[in-house]
Amino acid sequence: MKENYPLVIIGAGPAGLAAATVAADHGVEVALLDEQPAPGGQIFRGIEAAPDERADKLGPEYLRGEKLVSAFRNSSARYYPDTKVWSLSEQRDIGVIHQQQAHMISAEQVLIANGAFERPVPFPGWTLPGVMNAGAGQILFKGSGIVPADGVVLAGSGPLLLLLAWQYLRAGVRVKAVLDTISRGNYIKALPKLPSALLVHHHITQGLRYQQTLRLAGVELHNGIRDLQAHGAESLESISYRHKGSNHTLETDSLMIHFGIIPNIHLSQAAGCDHFWHKRQQCWRPELDEWGSSSVKGILIAGDGGGIGGARTAEHAGRIAAFRVLYNLGVMNQQEMHLEAKQDRKWMKADLRIRPFLEKLFRIPESMLRVPHDDTIVCRCEEVTAREIRAAIADGHSDSNQVKFYTRCGMGPCQGRQCSQAVAHIVADQTSIPLQQSTQFRIRPPLKPLTLGQLASLYPDETE
Ligand SMILES: Cc1cc2nc3c(=O)[nH]c(=O)nc-3n(C[C@H](O)[C@H](O)[C@H](O)COP(=O)(O)OP(=O)(O)OC[C@H]3O[C@@H](n4cnc5c(N)ncnc54)[C@H](O)[C@@H]3O)c2cc1C
Repeated sequence: MKENYPLVIIGAGPAGLAAATVAADHGVEVALLDEQPAPGGQIFRGIEAAPDERADKLGPEYLRGEKLVSAFRNSSARYYPDTKVWSLSEQRDIGVIHQQQAHMISAEQVLIANGAFERPVPFPGWTLPGVMNAGAGQILFKGSGIVPADGVVLAGSGPLLLLLAWQYLRAGVRVKAVLDTISRGNYIKALPKLPSALLVHHHITQGLRYQQTLRLAGVELHNGIRDLQAHGAESLESISYRHKGSNHTLETDSLMIHFGIIPNIHLSQAAGCDHFWHKRQQCWRPELDEWGSSSVKGILIAGDGGGIGGARTAEHAGRIAAFRVLYNLGVMNQQEMHLEAKQDRKWMKADLRIRPFLEKLFRIPESMLRVPHDDTIVCRCEEVTAREIRAAIADGHSDSNQVKFYTRCGMGPCQGRQCSQAVAHIVADQTSIPLQQSTQFRIRPPLKPLTLGQLASLYPDETE
């Protein structure tokens, strides 16, 4: 690994792969870093190694990735798999763990294409063994062909619930139920956005097809569920929820939960980029211009890390950001940049037409985000409950960082990825300070755990 590159891209999903291919094809020396062992990102994970039968079960969208990955492989971009980025500064110094050793490299331009992660929503029992994120379930399936035993229940909200249930069904798993928080109110609010969404009909058609297949297979599908709880002494034994005014219980030892995805902003926060609270997507996201440039010079962001848009949008955004990088590096003039980006802009605009509909339909009830039960663990790493967080706020610690110092929430190995939003919601609820005005956890390196040995490997010539 060299010490300096004209362009470093972090993340080998659709955004990073598309950007790296464009930049390399224009003669720029690109290093693409990704912590996964193979290219593809979340959506096309394991695509090169997936046996035909498994790829077929995952559906046609998954197979789109083959083209993207092979174009990247045929380009001259340098690819560094199994490489974690653990710090990024405003000066574009990048801390990396590669082959078990820590390195510091730098770049004239950095493109963050690190994607999204599942929105953590604390509810009673969510930390019990047997309760798992649907995305993690899908990763096991895509990467290793591992599926849960018969009787699995999927709960929460978002298109991934239906998709995963459909994928499990195709893999021969008996899915017991899909329980969605979508309420009648969500449908009513989403309805005006439907005509525009129908222009991107492949998403809607797919969703309806998944629903129909699941119903025909006898899977219980319920919308508008509330008060989801997981129960069990040592591990998950059952779940309970409210539906249409009555309480229900289902026995299961496997619950897949999903409440949509939110941008992975740890790197952009660490680099000092400006962020804002996006009301419709119920998450923070970086301030970006139409090219993906952030508020920090030389740092661009593309794909879901810049705001949730889906895989196709990520691919277009990656290419558009790459054209901007080519301009910034003097490889292209302004006119060429605009011309090259034109087609991707058109496709991206078309693909994004479905978003307002999805955002209204799958909006998570505010009550679920703001008021976890007192006994619910909010910070899984440090085992801090909602009660302890509320007590800290009542003691006068009225912003997220004060709550963090006082309770240690957000100080564990995940560095607050799992609890920062939940803490911010509780703070907003208790103090009545609107979320958009509240502070977020300050992000300090290392963003990913690294050992003292790895840290010491930064200074191989030091004897003490
Ligand atoms: C769990 C999950 C499951 C999903 N499943 C589907 C699905 O089935 N169908 C669908 O249409 N959409 C799905 N989505 C959404 C879809 O994955 C995204 O829209 C799309 O992948 C976005 O592409 P991207 O290039 O922005 O990021 P991603 O595809 O997420 O790629 C980001 C890459 O960055 C890497 N990375 C992140 N941080 C670091 C770091 N610090 N150091 C090194 N590498 C890093 C990650 O390993 C990843 O490979 C899913 C999203 C998630 C989070």
